[in-house]
Amino acid sequence: MSDMVDTPAGRLPVVKMDRRELLMGLAAGTVVPLVAGCTAHNEALGRSQLMIVSDAQIAQLSQQTWQQSLQQERVSRDAGKRRQVERVGTRIAQGSGLTQYDWEFVVFENDQINAWVLPNGKVAIYSGLLDVVGNDDQLATVIGHEAGHVAGRHAQERASQQMAAGMGASLAAVALDQGGVDNAGMWAGVLGAGLTFGVLLPYSRRHEYEADRLGADYMTRSSYRASEALTFWNGMMARSSRGSQPAFLSTHPSDAQRMQALDAHIRASGYA
Ligand SMILES: [Zn+2]
Repeated sequence: MSDMVDTPAGRLPVVKMDRRELLMGLAAGTVVPLVAGCTAHNEALGRSQLMIVSDAQIAQLSQQTWQQSLQQERVSRDAGKRRQVERVGTRIAQGSGLTQYDWEFVVFENDQINAWVLPNGKVAIYSGLLDVVGNDDQLATVIGHEAGHVAGRHAQERASQQMAAGMGASLAAVALDQGGVDNAGMWAGVLGAGLTFGVLLPYSRRHEYEADRLGADYMTRSSYRASEALTFWNGMMARSSRGSQPAFLSTHPSDAQRMQALDAHIRASGYA
């Protein structure tokens, strides 16, 4: 079950592996535990994550990917749209408390209903998405959810899982020993594949639940109405059932169960 994916470093196989497969691989010896300290506790999620990529590597690759995107896409000159995204993005960034990132919010002139984030806090919002959000609260839903993926370190986790699955432990250990960004045709490839989650490939179900929960928290802390998140996602799903799947829904798969979980979180937290 391996697809190919285009990354900044070329075409790469994508190894899809969930926790159960990873554990089975560990048990069968096909996946060897890497090195001590390859998991990290994530405060925002309240759980540990496999984390064998360094923040420096991720930051460097994110920046490269961002620069490429700015060249390849058409950056919008629409002052109104830019102001809206800047206004909502800044408020979510501050409200979320994720001030360690160098947040940037850019509008791409593109009819696709889409948005994505890179792990270094660079957020792309497509004009097609702005055309369908009903208000700032719904835009805050998108940005808050994306910020949730950043805080959840979801791209890094996926890249780490891919490395563990695809490269084998010894190779990864050697790469780790040699330390970092220098030797990195190989690293760039695997990390690049990790970065494409949320840009080209769907996040996992677990990551969606986590980003939903954090997104609703960030919306509330930024004085947006979290209940508008349900309006937004239900609207996306309605489009999908009418036969035109928004690109945003392809990378952030949604269904009734996910909405129930989000609704339950909003109610249990007493959010507006
Ligand atoms: Zn998502």
